[in-house]
Amino acid sequence: MSNRIAIIGGGIAGLTAAYLLHDKYDITLFEKSSRIGGNAYTLATPDGQEVDIAVAAYGKYSYKNFFKLLSRFNIETVSPFDLDPFFSFGLGFSFCNLDQPRGLYLTPGIKALMSQNFAILRPSHVWDVMQLLRGLRKAKQLLAAGELDGLTVEQALLKIPEISGDGKLIFIGGLCLISSMYCDDLLDAPASFFIQKLNIHDDLLPPKCLFAVRFARNRTKSYVEAMARGFNDQIVLNADIEAVLRPEHEVVLVMKDGRKLTFDQVIFACNADQALALLPEPTEKERKLLGAWRYTEGRIAVHSDHTYFPRRDLIHGYTFLYREQGRYIETSISGSLWALPGVSKNCNLISTQHPNFPIDPDHLFFEKVFRTPIFDFNSGATISDLPSLNGIMNTYYCGSHFGFGVHEDAVTSAIEVARAFKVDF
Ligand SMILES: Cc1cc2nc3c(=O)[nH]c(=O)nc-3n(C[C@H](O)[C@H](O)[C@H](O)COP(=O)(O)OP(=O)(O)OC[C@H]3O[C@@H](n4cnc5c(N)ncnc54)[C@H](O)[C@@H]3O)c2cc1C
Repeated sequence: MSNRIAIIGGGIAGLTAAYLLHDKYDITLFEKSSRIGGNAYTLATPDGQEVDIAVAAYGKYSYKNFFKLLSRFNIETVSPFDLDPFFSFGLGFSFCNLDQPRGLYLTPGIKALMSQNFAILRPSHVWDVMQLLRGLRKAKQLLAAGELDGLTVEQALLKIPEISGDGKLIFIGGLCLISSMYCDDLLDAPASFFIQKLNIHDDLLPPKCLFAVRFARNRTKSYVEAMARGFNDQIVLNADIEAVLRPEHEVVLVMKDGRKLTFDQVIFACNADQALALLPEPTEKERKLLGAWRYTEGRIAVHSDHTYFPRRDLIHGYTFLYREQGRYIETSISGSLWALPGVSKNCNLISTQHPNFPIDPDHLFFEKVFRTPIFDFNSGATISDLPSLNGIMNTYYCGSHFGFGVHEDAVTSAIEVARAFKVDF
């Protein structure tokens, strides 16, 4: 086994690969931005707090490898229940129509119930939510019977009339939340993929989520920093790679400043399209499997502009400010940052993904674009074949697109790469 390995991408996938391999191999991790962590992003606020503005939550039961990794570094996690047993904070879901005075507040806690005059307990709301749960059970049965094969999410919903009204709003909003996809992409996406995702990650859904969803007590940076501790001096930030050449028996990274860095193997832990763009001569299979992937370039704005939001008791957890646009729901997804562990309840910052309302520049604190895979029929069809790229022309791949797009998938795919290098986890 030769020993110089270039790892391209410093998100959780690249960090896991580097962590597992650095003891036995001479690794160098190249990250094109000025920080490691990728979509795990801890931001320092002006009043000295630290908040996670993208990745924040994990399912205790469905993220087996990720939790095993956290335990190696003694990273503590907490559930919303640990944070507040009376559910005054945590996992609320609010939906507010931007064009009409209409709100649906699935916000636990007595204060939240009082703020909405107990509206959520009205029979029509309770009925819609019960129907949604029935619809989800039916969706799983349809999946098992193969009756969702080839159907889009939109087509599948026609087969499940139980998911309608407020239930449909919650269903679509929830899928947008766990995929970071826009609603129009989601409606055209394969239903079987998303119902399978809900099956596997049922600990992210009510009622399990109340005790199974966990947050890193000291934010995502606690595990990002812990993982990198053993190889900090082997990380190259602001790396400007022009191309990756693969002559026989070696790999050459051609940097934009003209330098050529030689390795024995390369691990692409960046997005599929970014990897393909670095390869002047991809194999036919790489062209086909990596070329199938499109990405959402999703803007996240961290701000304290509450103009379009209902009162604070009703927006703890996630808030969906939406418009009904023909067949789809155009929605932003906002996380109330004071609901996160370790953040002062006096914090008034909101992290909004895909903002669809004006944000007062004086209240805008930070903005960044985050990339996430679009799971459509083309890309979804490649997932089971992606591991077959590993080992060909001294090249390996990992990332969250090897599964359902979450941390567990990124970590698991990196563990598989490490196994190919005879390192077990
Ligand atoms: C808003 C948001 C919220 C999310 N919330 C959750 C959550 O709560 N829980 C969860 O499990 N998942 C969540 N996710 C999904 C998250 O994307 C995945 O869990 C995971 O973090 C992806 O990791 P990755 O390493 O595959 O990719 P990324 O995190 O995208 O990392 C890829 C890295 O490669 C680098 N790179 C790209 N090109 C190059 C190049 N040419 N040279 C060098 N480096 C390069 C990038 O800069 C980046 O750092 C969320 C995503 C978003 C956007």
